[in-house]
Amino acid sequence: MEKQTIQSEQDIKDILKSYQLYQVMLDLPFRLNHVNCFMAEEGDGWKIIDVGLHNAETVARWNKELAQKNIKEIIITHYHPDHFGYAGGMQAKTGARLSMTKIDADMALDAWHDVFLSNLNKNYESAGIPTGIADDMTKNTAEFIERVTPYPTVDHYLKEGEHIRIGNYMYKVIHTPGHSDGLVCFYNSERNMLLSTDHILPRITPNISYWFHGDPNPLKSYLHSLEKIRSLDADLVVPSHGKPFYGANDRIDEITKHHEERLDTLLRVITNGATIYEACGKLFRKKLSIHETRFAVGETFAHLEFLRNNGDCQRVMYDGKYWYTV
Ligand SMILES: [Zn+2]
Repeated sequence: MEKQTIQSEQDIKDILKSYQLYQVMLDLPFRLNHVNCFMAEEGDGWKIIDVGLHNAETVARWNKELAQKNIKEIIITHYHPDHFGYAGGMQAKTGARLSMTKIDADMALDAWHDVFLSNLNKNYESAGIPTGIADDMTKNTAEFIERVTPYPTVDHYLKEGEHIRIGNYMYKVIHTPGHSDGLVCFYNSERNMLLSTDHILPRITPNISYWFHGDPNPLKSYLHSLEKIRSLDADLVVPSHGKPFYGANDRIDEITKHHEERLDTLLRVITNGATIYEACGKLFRKKLSIHETRFAVGETFAHLEFLRNNGDCQRVMYDGKYWYTV
């Protein structure tokens, strides 16, 4: 089926309603300005899928949405702050059980940990990032601590192939590492519908970053996960950013092509040798905020490591920095 976005808010509402799903779009203070969370109504209570950043706006919005409702379960698709941040806060308020993958539960505990943060600065400098900018980037990461705490208690670890009820349908849990190591999508085979979370997005390509921990070749994992989803040939895709659309495989083609082009560009960029930061500057030409620079550097790093693991380039450590050359 050819890729086709559903434009009207009413159509989105109606389609989701037929799954007993309600979208809660939360504002984000970034260029990526929103995240879609979902509420699913079941006979004896509600399930929540993703919860947004822990900040005052998020808390106020959920207070309104959750009022008078029995919240049974909170399902977290991956550990990134815009999905996971308020998990512990909402769990404390509702007493709901919480499910996520073990991989991402562990990643969450790691990602804002003191030891990780103190190494981060050193790692940023090895990427060739000037000291002042590296400091700001580490500070920016640390600023997220208050937006992702308190941490929740995980009652159930989601597993590949497990079937879970969401609203009035059953979904298969599909592990699709890449955007995060433990990210899961949920697939309903009866209606050939995919809750794609951040694995497949309609307009932007999901950020694939290496941030000095976890999977050493996330782009390889991501491309493999795309092929895994391709085999479903899903019809309706409901993503965590942007509007639902039809035709998963057309979008998978576009995203795959994007990464192939980016890899080609990078090979040209590093012909005469470049640090990660230099390569990043040539790949992302527009002016980036510190927060965006973190993502751009991570994305560049992931692509360089993909090339290196493929035998397409080499990496040497010189003067405390990684240099990539063809
Ligand atoms: Zn996201």
